[in-house]
Amino acid sequence: MSGTQNRHPGVVTKVCEYCGRPLVVAGAGRPRRYCTAACRQRAYRSRAIAAEVRERIELGQLALQLRDNADRLLLLSQGWQPPDGTDALDVLLTETVHLATELAQRGHVLGGNETGHETPIPRSPD
Ligand SMILES: [Zn+2]
Repeated sequence: MSGTQNRHPGVVTKVCEYCGRPLVVAGAGRPRRYCTAACRQRAYRSRAIAAEVRERIELGQLALQLRDNADRLLLLSQGWQPPDGTDALDVLLTETVHLATELAQRGHVLGGNETGHETPIPRSPD
């Protein structure tokens, strides 16, 4: 039998994907993944937190890249010439604007968490 699929009406025992407790699944309808609504909500919330952590890491990398670009722009303004010519000023400026724009837009998405209130999580899709 293949995982969650059950072509025969009846009872299949699985485990809750969050707490690991046995889960009785009726053959009809969508297979359940969690034993309770609380487990479903906690699992959904932990996925949301993991996604937010990833987002913050990516934003940090964007910020580092932006700072690196700012350093290069400063060096260029002081007469430094990149050895391979790849950091031409217009390319660097365009990239810097894109980085700053992306950082501003994505940073704004996370801005709501700074208030200290718990972020409302939309209802779990399953
Ligand atoms: Zn559970």
